[in-house]
Amino acid sequence: MAFDVELATQAYMATLKGAARAKSDAYFEGGYWLILWNFLVTLIANLIVLRLGWAARLSRWARSKAGPLLAAFLFAVPYLLLITALTLPFSIYTDFVREHAYGLSNQSFAEYGGEQLIFIAVDTLLAALLWIGINATIRRFPRGWWLGGAGLTIGVLMVTITLAPVYLNPLFNDYAPLPDGPVKSEVLKMARANGVPADNVYLVDASRQSDRISANVTGLFGTIRIALNDNLMKQDIHEIRSVMAHELGHYVLNHMWKLIIAVALMIALSLALVAVGTPWLLARLGGRWGIEGMADPGALPALTIVISFVFLLGTPITNSLIRVQEQEADIFGLNAARAPDGFARIAMKLSQYRKIEPGAWEEYIFFDHPSGHTRVRTAMRWKAEHVAEADVR
Ligand SMILES: [Zn+2]
Repeated sequence: MAFDVELATQAYMATLKGAARAKSDAYFEGGYWLILWNFLVTLIANLIVLRLGWAARLSRWARSKAGPLLAAFLFAVPYLLLITALTLPFSIYTDFVREHAYGLSNQSFAEYGGEQLIFIAVDTLLAALLWIGINATIRRFPRGWWLGGAGLTIGVLMVTITLAPVYLNPLFNDYAPLPDGPVKSEVLKMARANGVPADNVYLVDASRQSDRISANVTGLFGTIRIALNDNLMKQDIHEIRSVMAHELGHYVLNHMWKLIIAVALMIALSLALVAVGTPWLLARLGGRWGIEGMADPGALPALTIVISFVFLLGTPITNSLIRVQEQEADIFGLNAARAPDGFARIAMKLSQYRKIEPGAWEEYIFFDHPSGHTRVRTAMRWKAEHVAEADVR
């Protein structure tokens, strides 16, 4: 009897049923609402800062202390910390309480808090530096600033991505070369067969944070590297091979560069909308808030409101950009690892916290990776068409 793709897919689907499936659906669907809540919480925090006159007072203080460049920085740092403080209960709920409620975190509150302090410090510094540049561009080019602002944003993003594997990620986890053993030889064999240098494969101790199985490609230029985490290391060899072949796909298909180009276009478009939306908002409410116009360093909260709204509307586009790359990496990975059942088993394990069988529109709007059903079906179709070949495992 011929191998039946649908029956094989359904056999996998049947292994996630009942309470376990309800839990993974609830966790993932809750995430849809968190996108909206995140926007509303950001909106309310910024409206508080504007409506109570804090932004105006902070801006007057910053401008009285320094010239325009430093004033932008002096405004941004306390403003960003204020927003962080106002949104803190929401962040703690989403990133800590909710993760623990679903049994998805291994961190104590102290460990989580320590990480957050580093995140906040790095984020605040980068954002404040970026605001110096964008505010200066607004003052110099009141109409066309969004193009320069997009260039600066991409610049900061690229520097961050380049430095992350070397200077940022090691602040949170230990990265080490793969230890000797069967996993290393299998992974490096696939890496060499696909033109990926062996010294670019690392092992990261992600079990400090959670039990989630994961691997990733990070960095740019000389810092680009593939890391698999210790949770993946505990899985069966064909499962590891299928995940690492997927990551090799990201590397070989130059996904990081393609994503940066796509993101650059999206940021330029977003800032063009912000360059229309923020003056519109300030013309209506800027007087009441005491904000003197786009060139005022205190325009940052209004700008944040508009860009948060643009990003909220852009959610399906961002998710789809990433999901299309993930589908490409899945196909690359099936061809490179030739282990469709290993890949299907991993897709089932990832479905413990990602809804396994969403509707077509739901997957388009909310999924930044293919759903478990899509992945298993892709693997089973590949298996059906290659099962007769000798090296399929
Ligand atoms: Zn991927």
